[in-house]
Amino acid sequence: MTPIIIIGAGMAGLACARKLADAGMAPVVLDKGRGIGGRVATRRSGDLQFDHGAQYVNAHGAGFSSVLAALEKAGTLAGWPDGTGRTHSVGVPGMSALPKALGAGLDIRQNAQVLRLVPDAGGWLLHLADGTLRAASVVVTVPAPQVAALMGADHPLVARLGAVQIAPCLTLMAAVAGRAPFITRKDTDDPLAWIAQDSAKPGRPQKHGALWVAQASEAFSAAHLEDDPTMLTACMLPLLCDRLSISAATVTHASTHRWRYARVTQPLGQSFLCSDDGSLYLGGD
Ligand SMILES: Cc1cc2nc3c(=O)[nH]c(=O)nc-3n(C[C@H](O)[C@H](O)[C@H](O)COP(=O)(O)OP(=O)(O)OC[C@H]3O[C@@H](n4cnc5c(N)ncnc54)[C@H](O)[C@@H]3O)c2cc1C
Repeated sequence: MTPIIIIGAGMAGLACARKLADAGMAPVVLDKGRGIGGRVATRRSGDLQFDHGAQYVNAHGAGFSSVLAALEKAGTLAGWPDGTGRTHSVGVPGMSALPKALGAGLDIRQNAQVLRLVPDAGGWLLHLADGTLRAASVVVTVPAPQVAALMGADHPLVARLGAVQIAPCLTLMAAVAGRAPFITRKDTDDPLAWIAQDSAKPGRPQKHGALWVAQASEAFSAAHLEDDPTMLTACMLPLLCDRLSISAATVTHASTHRWRYARVTQPLGQSFLCSDDGSLYLGGD
């Protein structure tokens, strides 16, 4: 039996695994994805790259501040002036550098989707597509609305997660030849609530003109969540061209990504939940 299994190699799962490893334990991290980092991600398409998930990180506590300071010292993180007088921390050469650094040396198993998590004698049984694993303790860090599918909606801890709301976000990625009128633009009333010149971040390749990431507003994302990707790109691209005052003829690449669960709009109000016997933790944003 594995002593501790963490489900999810996003920032929460990696932070938990790192703490446990630093305390001398040997957690196993399972993630359904091909890469690690979850929503802190960098999409690569040929020579192009876009931070299509989290745009930057800011620390609000001493613990995360010291993690970011160490990453900055190692060159994994750098300051990005956003053109509005503020500077944010971004991964170099992409946001995915951050989870990669946090995960270095940990036992992380990718392409390992947990389908079901059930109590078992003295611990937990994890059902995966290619078999089962047993663990004495499990930490679940998948987005809150996805926990019920793992454990059943009637589990008492899952019921407490019911109040957590996570809004979707549709993201457009575009490469544009020619002028770049700004670095970032934020307007929560605009269907494109956030537009960032991704290629203006430090350490990005400079071969392809300006690379843009545009995030749709909560309202637009909810209304278009089930749109076909081609239709969605056709719908969002003219909005970006308008906001940049450019012709569609200057666009050399455009694609979209659907984040069904992007940002927490109604948090739980506490960092994590724990079962009475201490063998199950539910965490994440
Ligand atoms: C478009 C967008 C923009 C954002 N912008 C910012 C920003 O600028 N700054 C900021 O601080 N935050 C931002 N956020 C939010 C931030 O990315 C998240 O709060 C944070 O990354 C959540 O980390 P997590 O570990 O809790 O969850 P996740 O990153 O979602 O990690 C969960 C992991 O679990 C895995 N998983 C899920 N189900 C299973 C399963 N059944 N079996 C195995 N593995 C599974 C997933 O593959 C994933 O890797 C943004 C998010 C999005 C989507």
